[in-house]
Amino acid sequence: MKLSKAFLFTTKEYPKDADVISDKLLRKSNLLVKSHAGFFYFTPLLNRTLKKIRNIISEEMDGAGAQEVLMPILMKKELWEESGRWDTYLNAEIMFHLKNRKNVEMCLGPTHEEAVTDLVRKFITSYKQLPVILYQQNTKFRDEIRPRFGLMRTSEFIMKDAYSFDSSEEGLDISYRTMREAYRRIFKRIGLEYIIVQADSGAIGGSGSEEFMITADSGEDTILYCPECRYAANLEKAGSVLNPVEFNDYNKELIKLHTPNIRTVEELVGFTGIPAHQMIKTIIFRLIYKDSEKFAAVMIRGDLEINEVKLLNYFGCLDMIKATVEEIGSLTGAEVGFAGPFNLNSKIQLVGDRSIAEVNYFLCGCNETDYHNINVCFGRDMELPPLADLKTAREGEICPECRKSALVQKMGIEVGHIFKLGTKYSEKMRALVTDESGAEIPMIMGCYGIGTSRIISAAIEQNHDGNGIIWQNSIAPYHILIITVGKEPPVTDIAEELYKSLTEKGYEVLYDDREVSFGFKMKDADLIGVPYRIVAGRKASEGIFEVSKRRDGIKQEMDIDSIITFLETEL
Ligand code: ATP
Ligand code: MG
Repeated sequence: MKLSKAFLFTTKEYPKDADVISDKLLRKSNLLVKSHAGFFYFTPLLNRTLKKIRNIISEEMDGAGAQEVLMPILMKKELWEESGRWDTYLNAEIMFHLKNRKNVEMCLGPTHEEAVTDLVRKFITSYKQLPVILYQQNTKFRDEIRPRFGLMRTSEFIMKDAYSFDSSEEGLDISYRTMREAYRRIFKRIGLEYIIVQADSGAIGGSGSEEFMITADSGEDTILYCPECRYAANLEKAGSVLNPVEFNDYNKELIKLHTPNIRTVEELVGFTGIPAHQMIKTIIFRLIYKDSEKFAAVMIRGDLEINEVKLLNYFGCLDMIKATVEEIGSLTGAEVGFAGPFNLNSKIQLVGDRSIAEVNYFLCGCNETDYHNINVCFGRDMELPPLADLKTAREGEICPECRKSALVQKMGIEVGHIFKLGTKYSEKMRALVTDESGAEIPMIMGCYGIGTSRIISAAIEQNHDGNGIIWQNSIAPYHILIITVGKEPPVTDIAEELYKSLTEKGYEVLYDDREVSFGFKMKDADLIGVPYRIVAGRKASEGIFEVSKRRDGIKQEMDIDSIITFLETEL
């Protein structure tokens, strides 16, 4: 492709609303053009990159025995009611929904478990037909609260979604491992550094899941990992063993202490001298279920924070929010800052984080404005409530797996997510097969997503410098860029000749034949990140060119034959 003809319009400045570096570079180069918040145009060069990523993914999926299908993006509410997810997604406000002319309610697919289960149940009736793995690479729609970070969080994006169907848990294990291995090959071929982390299953549901994370400072996900045993988990899921703390043995009776307008843990530490870890906070949440609501009071050590994802899973509710000032007032009889576990309204369910089990002679609220209890003991003054792991793990705490090393924190971009779904959808949607004994059982499912378009941004976050993008060979829009010094023959004729011959040999070549300065061309070359650059300059008439790689910038003089050998080894 000659740049004079290419639909490529680079600019000099980063757009004002670009946030992370990948977004800045993609939009400064206009490889990616914003349409409106969360929606983008992919211009031709970037579309080539997208296609290459899609191809790598498809090749590895096909190679792993998955079969490609295409499913409708627009789906009927009816189907989503079968799985019970219409309300969940509507409630989370993540789903675009609309009605057709006949008033039939529909959604633009945020994910396709329902659709694929519907397709499979039409034809698969016996365990003998299993396993089956189907996948597609299709557009997904999610009405994200804050679309941002370029292609990382858009409201319309391309996802590869695969779904496996088995008749036994062992079968699911095999399908899951097969997909996991295919994912490893995909990210290796694309050339990304990633880690696999344990993850929460979220609204998709199911028993176990892992995420493929590209490590990058701009990532939205927090990962905790163990350098010793390589335990790694998304913060939403991560466990930890707390570092030992010293408790004071006050060994006294429970006392009601006057704490006027002293509400936060920090204020209470200052006021009483009791360490935060010897206090127990009681936090009240309103839990939202499909047809009902209830309240929960959660006890946690004063120096720790509640992990709301763990709490949501514990209660199995659709959503959860901290109780309002008014609700706290009516449930505890006190202002905010004085809630405690005693004499709570019977409508409230009390639970505790495991951290509280070891704490005694602690301070907690007593449901009376301006008062706290001190020297409270489990067993003596109150029973331990039911306990669960509800805390947010922190860097520096001990690995829950090997119990040797301290956990380290990193930021990550989730590019893939694999789930063992089990029978959540097949049971509700009656996707049944007969087993060996002739009994009808629901198929056992897995689902496996990759953010095809998100990978572009993640790859740039990992591969760029101050001047622009540095594409990996596997996903570069073109491999070679020819630039001339000067705009006159014979240099331009020689460059044209080189362009033709490399293109004929099957290389993906760009030739910058635009009527602009050499400096301008070089700036653009850095910005758009083509991996190999060939400059035709003073020695071009002697058949000598200057060849360099975008990644290291090291220049080498080569004649045509050496260029061909060089490209053959590199590509
Ligand atoms: P996130 O937690 O980032 O919102 P998710 O867990 O909801 O993502 P999944 O349902 O697991 O996403 O979707 C599979 C993959 O699709 C994700 O791993 C991610 O790479 C990609 N993806 C999800 N949401 C978006 C989005 N808004 N924009 C671009 N890619 C996305
Ligand atoms: Mg996910």
